[in-house]
Amino acid sequence: MRTRVTELLGIEYPIVQGGMQWVGRAELASAVSNAGGLGILTALTQPSPEDLRREIERCRELTDKPFGVNLTILPTIKPVPYEDYARAIAESGVGIVETAGRNPEPFLPLFKEAGIKVIHKCTSIRHSLKAERIGCDMVSVDGFECAGHPGEDDVTNLILLPLAARRLKIPFLASGGLGDGRGLAAALAMGADGINMGTRFMVTREAPIHESVKQAMVDASELDTALIYRSLRNTARVFKNEIAQQVLAIEAQPGETRFEDIRELVSGAKGKELLENGELDQGIWSAGMVVGLIDDIPACEELIQRIVKDAKAIINDRLQAMVAG
Ligand code: NAD
Repeated sequence: MRTRVTELLGIEYPIVQGGMQWVGRAELASAVSNAGGLGILTALTQPSPEDLRREIERCRELTDKPFGVNLTILPTIKPVPYEDYARAIAESGVGIVETAGRNPEPFLPLFKEAGIKVIHKCTSIRHSLKAERIGCDMVSVDGFECAGHPGEDDVTNLILLPLAARRLKIPFLASGGLGDGRGLAAALAMGADGINMGTRFMVTREAPIHESVKQAMVDASELDTALIYRSLRNTARVFKNEIAQQVLAIEAQPGETRFEDIRELVSGAKGKELLENGELDQGIWSAGMVVGLIDDIPACEELIQRIVKDAKAIINDRLQAMVAG
C-alpha cells in the first residue's frame, strides 16, 4: 500500500503501533516493524533515560526496519526528567518520535536538529492545527473511542477524521477504535493516511504482557471500558475491572475528588505488576472500545496481513461494485 504515511515513515503498510505505557517494549515494537508497520517504544516505560538508550539498541538488534519512540507528557506521580528522555531519543539516531499529552513545542528544536520526524497525538482539531503550525510532520487524531487519554471533548472519529481531512495539510493517522480491515478502509475513506492501533496490538503473541490480560480483552465486549479521572480533567479510558469501578465510585461521591483519594488504586507501578503477573484486579490498565472487535491473539505479522487483505478486499470488491456502472 502507498500513502503519505508509508512514504514519510518509510514503511510498507500504513499501520502504526501507538505508544503504550508498560507495553511498548522492544519485543512488540520490533515485531510490528518487521511485519511492515511502524513499531513504537514507549520512553517512560524505561525507568531512566539510560535504560531507554539501551532499549533502543535492543530494538535495533531485533529489527533493521524503521521504528519510533513515544514521549508522553501528562501528570505523573513521580516527576519525570522529560528533557533527559528527549535528549536520549535525539542522540540515539531514532528517526521518528510520537509525542502525546501536551504541546511538544519545547522539544521540537532538539528533535528537528536530529532529523527526527515528529508525529503528535491530538484529541481535537484545534490541537491538530496547532501541531501543524508549530512544525510537526504528522498528527495522530485520537477519537473518543481510544484507550488511555481521550481528552475532555468526547468527539468520535466519525467527526474528527473528516474534519481533519478538511483542515489539515500534513498527513494524519486515525487513532482510536481501529482494529480490523474495515477500520483501515474506513479511515482511508474518511481522509486519513493510515491508522494507529494500541489495544489491538496489546492482544498479539508478541505483546510483552500476561496471557490472562490478553484473554480478558478477547472475552470483553465494547461495553467493558470505563472513563476514570473525569473529575480531575485527566480522563483516561481503562478496562472496566473491579479497581476501575472502585475509582468511579470514589469519583461519584459528593464533593471534589482529590488525586490522593485514588492514587493507591491507579498507580502505574501496580498497573505494571498486573500486566506482568496477570492478576486482573490489582490495578488498572488502558484499553479502548475496540476490545469489542478483538477475538483472537494473532502474531503481529498475521494481524497486519489480515487487516491489509481485508481492507483491500473492501476497497476493490465491495466499494468498487457499489459504484460500478
Ligand atoms: P503514574 O503512576 O505516575 O500515575 C498513574 C495515573 O494517574 C496516570 O494515568 C496519571 O496520568 C495519573 N495521575 C498522576 N498524577 C496525577 C494528578 N496529580 N492528577 C491527575 N491524574 C494524575 O503513571 P504511569 O502509569 O507510570 O504512566 C506514566 C505516564 O504515562 C503518565 O503520564 C500516564 O498518564 C501516561 N500514560 C498514558 C497512557 C495513554 O494511553 N496515553 C496510558 C498509560 C499511561
